[in-house]
Amino acid sequence: MAGGMRAVSEAERTAESGGGGPAPVALVREGTWLLPQPMPSEHLPKHTLSYLLQDSEGDLHVVDPGVDDDHNLDRLFGLIRSIGSEPSRLRTVVSTHLHHDHLGLAGRLRRETGALVAIHRAEQEAVLALAAAAPTRVADDAERAERWGVPAARRAELADVAVRAAHSAPFEADLLLEHDDLLPVPGRRIRVLHTPGHTPGHLALVEERTTETETGTGTGTDTDADARGLLFTGDLLLPTIYPGLGLGGQATDPVADYLASLDSLAPYADFEVLPGHGYRFIGAAQRIEETRHHHLTRSAEIAALLRADPAASVWRIASGVAWTAGFENLSGFYLCSALSQTAQHLAHLERQSASSDHPAGA
Ligand SMILES: [Zn+2]
Ligand SMILES: [Zn+2]
Repeated sequence: MAGGMRAVSEAERTAESGGGGPAPVALVREGTWLLPQPMPSEHLPKHTLSYLLQDSEGDLHVVDPGVDDDHNLDRLFGLIRSIGSEPSRLRTVVSTHLHHDHLGLAGRLRRETGALVAIHRAEQEAVLALAAAAPTRVADDAERAERWGVPAARRAELADVAVRAAHSAPFEADLLLEHDDLLPVPGRRIRVLHTPGHTPGHLALVEERTTETETGTGTGTDTDADARGLLFTGDLLLPTIYPGLGLGGQATDPVADYLASLDSLAPYADFEVLPGHGYRFIGAAQRIEETRHHHLTRSAEIAALLRADPAASVWRIASGVAWTAGFENLSGFYLCSALSQTAQHLAHLERQSASSDHPAGA
């Protein structure tokens, strides 16, 4: 039933892989536009994919506005004017999660337009917890580096990735969303899925295609593509990279959370995926499977390294993992991320072995 994964637009796919400028603005469906917003980054991804939605009253809503900068604000307002509307029609800004490339511009949009900012309730708690942790960050980083067995010469590089990736200010949203809520978008049924793992309050959005809707014009001419529902995945499911886990501060077992979140997408396998980076695609089932496989393979790799050396530090284990770039080439943010991913897989394995009542010694 569900076919292989493929890009909806070849132009979007080549823009992502070619390293050139962003893909052009695209009309996803009537009333839904894609706006690629540049983000400063040495590596992929180089753009946040923002989405502009128009409701049945002509008002506007944004999903993931991108990083906070003047150009992104101008690009969004330019798109709004190009569809014959104006920024004052912006009603809500929904961010899938707290990272600055998704939530960054939300505060400025609120100030400039009066739009309400919406995030998941658990994400609001994570934002405040990260802000509260900031004053002790340097001491916490040092303590953690020691616990992970990081050689003294490498410790300075390891400022907390979660704190660094997060929106910097103790941001307070206007609307706190829960799993299964409908967004306040008149005339459209856009439902919230709580999909933790990348961050504790990450959310995805589902818009099913309602067949009984009278479109007024063009009835009966819907193509197959237009009959698909829309699945906004943020950083949960991406076409070209695998998201890091546990990048929103304290969480008990981000690996387990993330795998469960992937599972929760199964009912939407034939939807068009509107991710937070990369390009739009269909064939979600294949990408879900590849992504699950990536994380399970890493878990198995770390389990084998741990079996071979049960007393090994996080640093030692991480140095044995086959990272794409090679462990010896990782530094700064990427090194910290690799260590953090390793620590989370170790915690996940520990919880799994604690919950299975096997007698030791197998
Ligand atoms: Zn993210
Ligand atoms: Zn992102």
